[in-house]
Amino acid sequence: DAVFKDRLSDSITVAVRVRPPTTAEAARLPDPCYDTNTTLRGDGALSTPGKVTSTATLRDIVQVIDDRILTFDPDEKDRTRAFMERGFLPPGTKRYKDKRFMFDKVFSHEARQDDVYQATSQPLLKGVLDGYNATVFAYGATGCGKTHTISGTETDPGIIYLTMADLFQRIQDRKDEWNVEVMVTFLEIYNEEIRDLLAEPGAVYPRGGLQIREDKSVKVVGLTELRPNTAEEVKEIVLLGNTRRTQSPTKANETSSRSHAVLQVHVTQSPRTASVTEQRTMATLSIIDLAGSERAAATSNMGQRMVEGANINKSLLALGNCINALCENGGATRHVPYRNSKLTRLLKFSLGGNCKTVMIVCIAPTSNHFDDTHNTLLYAERATKI
Ligand code: ADP
Ligand code: MG
Repeated sequence: DAVFKDRLSDSITVAVRVRPPTTAEAARLPDPCYDTNTTLRGDGALSTPGKVTSTATLRDIVQVIDDRILTFDPDEKDRTRAFMERGFLPPGTKRYKDKRFMFDKVFSHEARQDDVYQATSQPLLKGVLDGYNATVFAYGATGCGKTHTISGTETDPGIIYLTMADLFQRIQDRKDEWNVEVMVTFLEIYNEEIRDLLAEPGAVYPRGGLQIREDKSVKVVGLTELRPNTAEEVKEIVLLGNTRRTQSPTKANETSSRSHAVLQVHVTQSPRTASVTEQRTMATLSIIDLAGSERAAATSNMGQRMVEGANINKSLLALGNCINALCENGGATRHVPYRNSKLTRLLKFSLGGNCKTVMIVCIAPTSNHFDDTHNTLLYAERATKI
């Protein structure tokens, strides 16, 4: 299959999605989530108990040029031109970064879930049905649209639902020749502990402390395995599972920002005609809502080994280091440090080699997320070069 070459650089697709501005951002109000001095009251007015924060500086910092290029912190051309005509830039004038980035795909805030699906996850399905593992990540800081993109809502479901709808349709189309079984698991990794998001409420809930067992494949012992028949079933499974994700006890609006949610879809096929089981193929599609990158991004460097700091998510760091190592050696000779985290152990046979990887990089459009967006774009740009 010409699509599946053995160089990882051909196997990673990086797409960037800019989320729409929130109501507060659109109104150029300080975002209550990111400004601890200001809160948005129930009646929509702002209460500012502490320092008064300037709202005049809130502006758009992402300009989508076309479906592959965006400009971060674009220069306000008219203002600069006026100054340049006078031959100087007055002291204190803001210098814009005005930096262009190119990716495999850029989605503006107007992109629909289906647009994102078609350019990211859909191209992986053929490979999965041919027996190749594939992985989709949503990467980005908290509040930038990862969960919306991956899970979405009841009325505007995300990549998981759209992928499953397509997968079940393809299975239906080939049901005369192939017997296909679909099994799904849904877990979170929080503080390097694996928790089953599908475990029924019981004595210990959510069911945590699960262990990984590895031989020719990777298995989480005791994980709930479901066999859904429709995409709707999977959507409900995921929306329910998301409500069970670990919340940070200190900050309510940091919901699940430090946990990775991992949906794995295991597809097993056997031909209906052959009496032998040799032709059986198995593949796993992993769809992952990563922990917020805000802490890791500040120190991440895909070109060098990332250094683990006290507050940096271990699995997020290990993922970057594994992708980095896979890319440096073309996936063959050098040691790939899968064992350094739960996430990378889980994905050992789903990264590199013939496995296709898609990174959907989520960013916010306005300057209240300036540093997060800058760091995320730098991280994503490195990923395109490997
Ligand atoms: P994250 O999971 O990265 O922390 P969320 O997906 O929870 O971020 O998004 C933050 C907020 O923005 C949520 O209220 C979400 O519904 C909204 N949002 C994100 N992306 C979109 C989008 N493309 N369209 C509409 N709303 C969005
Ligand atoms: Mg989220």
